[in-house]
Amino acid sequence: MTRGISRRSALSGGIAAGVAVAVAKPAAADVEIGYAFRHVTVVDVISGRLRPDMTVVVIGDRIVAVGRSQDIRVPPGVLIHDLPGKFLLPGLCDLHVHTGADVIDLPLHVANGVTTIRDMSTEPRHFEMRRRVEAGTLLGPRWVLGSRIIDGIPSLWDPNFANIVKVSGDADARAAVRQAKSEGAEFIKVYTRVSPVSLNAIADESRKLGLPFLGHCPDSVPIETAVDLGQRSFEHLFWTFYGTSRKEAELVERLRDLDFRDGDYNSWFTAMHPIEWEAAHTHSPVKARTLFAKFAARGARQVPTLALHNVLDHASAYRPENDPLRKYLPKSALDLNDFVLREFYLKGRTPQTDAEWAALWELRLGLVGEMHRAGVQILAGTDVGTGEIYPGFALHEELQHLVTAGLSPLAALQSATIEPAKFLGTERDSGSIAPGKLADLVLLDADPLADIANTRKLHSVSLRGKYYDPAARQKLLDDVEKAAATMPADAVTVSLCPCHAGAH
Ligand SMILES: [Zn+2]
Repeated sequence: MTRGISRRSALSGGIAAGVAVAVAKPAAADVEIGYAFRHVTVVDVISGRLRPDMTVVVIGDRIVAVGRSQDIRVPPGVLIHDLPGKFLLPGLCDLHVHTGADVIDLPLHVANGVTTIRDMSTEPRHFEMRRRVEAGTLLGPRWVLGSRIIDGIPSLWDPNFANIVKVSGDADARAAVRQAKSEGAEFIKVYTRVSPVSLNAIADESRKLGLPFLGHCPDSVPIETAVDLGQRSFEHLFWTFYGTSRKEAELVERLRDLDFRDGDYNSWFTAMHPIEWEAAHTHSPVKARTLFAKFAARGARQVPTLALHNVLDHASAYRPENDPLRKYLPKSALDLNDFVLREFYLKGRTPQTDAEWAALWELRLGLVGEMHRAGVQILAGTDVGTGEIYPGFALHEELQHLVTAGLSPLAALQSATIEPAKFLGTERDSGSIAPGKLADLVLLDADPLADIANTRKLHSVSLRGKYYDPAARQKLLDDVEKAAATMPADAVTVSLCPCHAGAH
């Protein structure tokens, strides 16, 4: 590393790169005002081009200059990191997480280059945690927080499950939306058993309050209807199968009438399976085309959470005790994960249903590929916080699954960078590497466009004006491992995923 000593200012460097740079005055050479990555290959996630031998200057928490290394003069006070052979990506985004312990989940995201997360079962403590992150007293990614989960009655969840709001009918549903708004929610999360009347009310009240609503598609609502109502994103793939089945009307009726006990997730999960199986085997390409055209036209996004489906579909074969990532979670979280796997995913399975679940995995990959080709925007989300899905690491798995499903490596990268930025309305600040944007950045040892698996070859990370070089990044991981080992066994460390896990 060297310190920039050129007399030319960052401003002139910026102009040389064809951009304006807002650096008022170079600092004294002994005051560090930022850092620069020199001789890196910038991955342009918008065009798909690689831009070799570039220099990216960061001052404060913003990128101030991006240009060819020969054209950029790094101003005094900016620490230079010469990184030939490294590939620079915008920070990654995981749009479907359930956050557990502050000193576990949050640094694991950051160490894995995940610099933005969207929490899908927000609790009051998350707002407090986010305040600490923004104040700089807790390390964590940028964090989009929504409502508590809004479900119908009966719900998949135990009535005492604190994080769920259950609504029945118009007035109830509207009140839940207003309450969420007053609590600071940035979106409304709808869930599996919301009734058609309640969903209409949620859609209308959310629109009045200027909040997007998104989440699961309620079982009793055709997915096309939810798109028409303005639902912004659809999590997981169950309902996409129903909506592309030539028997959709009949299947949605059967789903609506499912006989399951209030608060008994596994009974719903078990009863739903044959319906999903039938839907996936009565797939109508014509119906799919119509639905996907509507998704694309309305800008509704699909967040397939393949990382989650991979666990669900292969749960019987999964051996969590062999997972090398276990060292990063405290015992209480591991116990809960194992409980969830056993009681929610595996209970009641037979060799036949095991085989069916495994076959569904292949069909899910096909469905995601079909949606992508039809112009539906796919977004990366993992369902971190559910059984056996590890913060940060899972996003890289998701990218790999998306490529297996038929996305190009570029499209997969877009699903975790520029597309989430567009979706969240943060494109001015994030999603790509350009002057003026936040310096949320990831450096890789190898080209992710050549092989998406290369996103796992993480070298270092930049977030909130701080550069985590390889040693600092490793320390984040080591500190998590230590915290996990010493956390009390009864610590509440995982936000029970109300999507697919459960209270006990
Ligand atoms: Zn979830």
